[in-house]
Amino acid sequence: YVSTDPINDVEFEVKEWARDKKSEIETLRKQEQFRREFLSNISHEFKTPLFAIQGYIEAVQEDNFEDQEMAQQFLRKAQRNLDRLNYLIVDLDAISKLESGEVPVNYQKFNLGGLVKEVIESLEKKATEHKITLWFKEKYDHSTTVHADREKIRQVLVNLIDNSIKYGKEHGNTYIKTFELHDQILVEVTDDGSGIEEKYLPRLFERFFRTDKSRSRQIGGSGLGLAIVKHIVEAHQQTITVRSTEGIGSTFGFTLEKVKQPFPLTDT
Ligand code: ADP
Repeated sequence: YVSTDPINDVEFEVKEWARDKKSEIETLRKQEQFRREFLSNISHEFKTPLFAIQGYIEAVQEDNFEDQEMAQQFLRKAQRNLDRLNYLIVDLDAISKLESGEVPVNYQKFNLGGLVKEVIESLEKKATEHKITLWFKEKYDHSTTVHADREKIRQVLVNLIDNSIKYGKEHGNTYIKTFELHDQILVEVTDDGSGIEEKYLPRLFERFFRTDKSRSRQIGGSGLGLAIVKHIVEAHQQTITVRSTEGIGSTFGFTLEKVKQPFPLTDT
């Protein structure tokens, strides 16, 4: 290509440059708006439990407050709100580290069944307290070797199973199942708990999103658990899905890269 019109060329370049700059400014503007919303979400999420704690303490401190039973009840409520602040700080720390890219995905090959068992063990006590039974049947041990960041996938499993306990019903069940796909493993966590209204499903993985029910029922949580899950799964270039029916239960599923076995084992 030999230019015959240098002025036209320069004009073209300037236009290109202006277009690039415009989209750069657009991106910066979006980032700025995102940051503002994030901060306002955070301060809102902190204010609610802080005001509650202040209210309960002030009530108990009043001179004529003699009802010991009610005092205990108020202190328990204050404690629950403190727990909520704690969850918030731990989860905020996790999500900000994930988003800054500070913690890269540390790929390893590991047996998924072993990790699921560890996570179940760590949550068994909480499940029993909530009268929920955790089920995991590992049929084909050799087929569940995956290539992923073991610690991050632990977090994914903890968050999903923990939710199934929190939003489960008394004497309910959580089933953890793994399925072998072509070159992936699909992990599903299914509960027979409260389920989620269909209108909420598209927003479930957003930061700080909680359904009205979980807000009003005062279930401990930060509203960041599923945002963290999505972040981790997508950092592995894998997918996360949810199916749910209100009153019936929910299934959260995510995929992992399967490690092909050099010598296929037979089931004889
Ligand atoms: P939270 O800290 O509130 O549990 P999450 O991000 O983990 O935050 O979940 C977001 C919301 O999705 C929850 O507040 C709850 O309303 C809903 N949710 C998540 N998992 C389940 C489940 N297994 N059953 C019913 N609702 C769920």
